[in-house]
Amino acid sequence: MSNADTWETVKSELREVSLLYGAQASLAWDQQCYMPPGAAALRGEQMALLSRLVHERLTSAKLGRALEDLDGHVDDATTQRAVELLRKDYDRTVKLPADLVERRARAGATGFDAWIRAKEASDFAIFAPHLQEHLDLAKETAAAIDPDGHPLQVLMDGFDPGVSIEALRTAFSRLQTGLSELIEAAGDAEDRTLGGTWPTDGQLAMHRKVAERLGYDFDTGRMDLAEHPFTISLGHQDVRITTHVYDDDLLGGLGGTVHETGHALYEQGLPRALFGTGLDQAASFGLHESQSRFWENAIGRSRPFFAWMKPLLDSTFPGHPATVDSLYRAANRIQPGPNRVKADEVTYNLHIIVRVELELALFEDRLTIADLRDAWNDRYQRYLGVTPADDAEGVLQDVHWSGGSFAYFQSYTLGNLYAAAFHAVLREQMPDLDARVAKGDFAPILGWLRENVHQHGRSLDGTDRVKAVVGQRDYVEDLLAYLWGRHGALYGLTRPR
Ligand SMILES: [Zn+2]
Repeated sequence: MSNADTWETVKSELREVSLLYGAQASLAWDQQCYMPPGAAALRGEQMALLSRLVHERLTSAKLGRALEDLDGHVDDATTQRAVELLRKDYDRTVKLPADLVERRARAGATGFDAWIRAKEASDFAIFAPHLQEHLDLAKETAAAIDPDGHPLQVLMDGFDPGVSIEALRTAFSRLQTGLSELIEAAGDAEDRTLGGTWPTDGQLAMHRKVAERLGYDFDTGRMDLAEHPFTISLGHQDVRITTHVYDDDLLGGLGGTVHETGHALYEQGLPRALFGTGLDQAASFGLHESQSRFWENAIGRSRPFFAWMKPLLDSTFPGHPATVDSLYRAANRIQPGPNRVKADEVTYNLHIIVRVELELALFEDRLTIADLRDAWNDRYQRYLGVTPADDAEGVLQDVHWSGGSFAYFQSYTLGNLYAAAFHAVLREQMPDLDARVAKGDFAPILGWLRENVHQHGRSLDGTDRVKAVVGQRDYVEDLLAYLWGRHGALYGLTRPR
């Protein structure tokens, strides 16, 4: 078989694997949106079967041989990059025994169900044995891939290739210091919460209009309610978002929708023509988060954004008391609290630093699951000055660990760092950015992201993609400068030298 024929065979195999992934994603989406609770075990079996089928395809000796034959023997750089990445993925996957993959999928489904019950009862003890199982399986996975590597680093390489734990520790430590300065300077500010009661039907209708205006294509997407908002791709032609609305918190729900829209815009902008090559995927989780965070924060919490939104708000909720300034101030309050999803933009990263530190401690065997709740509460008190009222508000709040997802949380803060760098560069290249946002003219902004980030898919790793767009920059400084710029102006604060 010629190399060209071999490459065609590989691509058609990978296209089928993508279709299986899509089927699995539709089951995962249903599980979190509509599935009856009694179906958890059945869904676990279904997911496990699909995982096994995917795993068999991705680890077949035939695929391994084909990739080996192709590596270094293809004509163009794009195909060579695709082959290299596929070989890397193949080597990683082939090291995982099929029964481990299946056990992880099954544990994910039953763990999610236990997490729901634990959260409802606000009792960590219900979920703890499942979390222990997840942790054991994750360590087993890391050891199978690289028995000599730091287990969390090995897992992180699957989400954010090119990011080292040491670099992360340094960046997070600088960031924590810088954020604490800002939070301390802000002090006990006046209450800037928006208040009011916002009927959820109106909110959802408004969210749809906002998502559509930002560029989300409802012809290849849809929006549903979920306990914990997420975006999921069933394939290039089906990218779904979910949200959660609160009738007493207009901005909490809106921020979530704009965030998920940012993820979905990235997915909808990935290079479809590369379907089957693996290059049609997102470059890294951190880069994915940079897209959601950019829209949620840099755009969605800006004063011009609320100026644009005000008429939409007026027509949706006639007689509501909010003004552009009250919206802007409420969206940018600095108010340490126990909840990550509801956190303001400044304290948000401290929530992430807590989680990453706890994961590091768990994977370095410095912390046990039995002590996790106390360690969580202790760090919240030290970093944020708050103690969760109960387990539901504390250690059980996030969905990630329910499915055994570790080594993921750093992506959120990496996303904030990348987004700050993108924002700084975009502002230089588009001096009328604010004026465009105020008019609801988001297309050129999306166009910039499409051109610089989305359309490239996985042609570069996430870290290299950011560098290619912004050059050499200090992202921690970009983020701190941006936060001081916005919040300093609002609170009348000057950044200490
Ligand atoms: Zn996100």
